[in-house]
Amino acid sequence: MPKPAAFPKPGHNHARCSSDALRKAEALCAARGVRLTDIRREVLSLVWQSHVPIGAYDILAKLNEGGGKTAPMAVYRALEFLMEQGLVHRLASLNAYIGCAHMDDEHAAQFLICKKCGTAAELENAPLTRALNQAVAERGFTMDSQVVEISGLCPHCA
Ligand SMILES: [Zn+2]
Ligand SMILES: [Zn+2]
Ligand SMILES: [Zn+2]
Repeated sequence: MPKPAAFPKPGHNHARCSSDALRKAEALCAARGVRLTDIRREVLSLVWQSHVPIGAYDILAKLNEGGGKTAPMAVYRALEFLMEQGLVHRLASLNAYIGCAHMDDEHAAQFLICKKCGTAAELENAPLTRALNQAVAERGFTMDSQVVEISGLCPHCA
């Protein structure tokens, strides 16, 4: 049975979402023997500030809020690492990044993006992923990455 899309309720305990995600990310990086350096961790926690995707320049602005001098390249490199590790996804239609809530599962990223509140939630539909992978393979295409982005209204905004 495919799970229904999880759109967190407005006003939910988000501190818990983000602390859970950071803890999970730390454990995963440790298990893989890769380093979640300070900048990577800070960028990940900024991505997890909400369920609304955030752009690289907004991340940079927040990092440098207290007068810091982090360079844009450092943010892009941190995002690159986080994407490689499957901890964040990039949404091309918004040119923004979103934290992955089920980073330890191998999965294709299919997102529902609310055009009103901006929330993005993963669809997590395994049969859809399999069908898509098969359709792509049948065309002899070697896939690097795929993110499906569906725009509309979430249950709280509809
Ligand atoms: Zn949350
Ligand atoms: Zn994901
Ligand atoms: Zn919404």
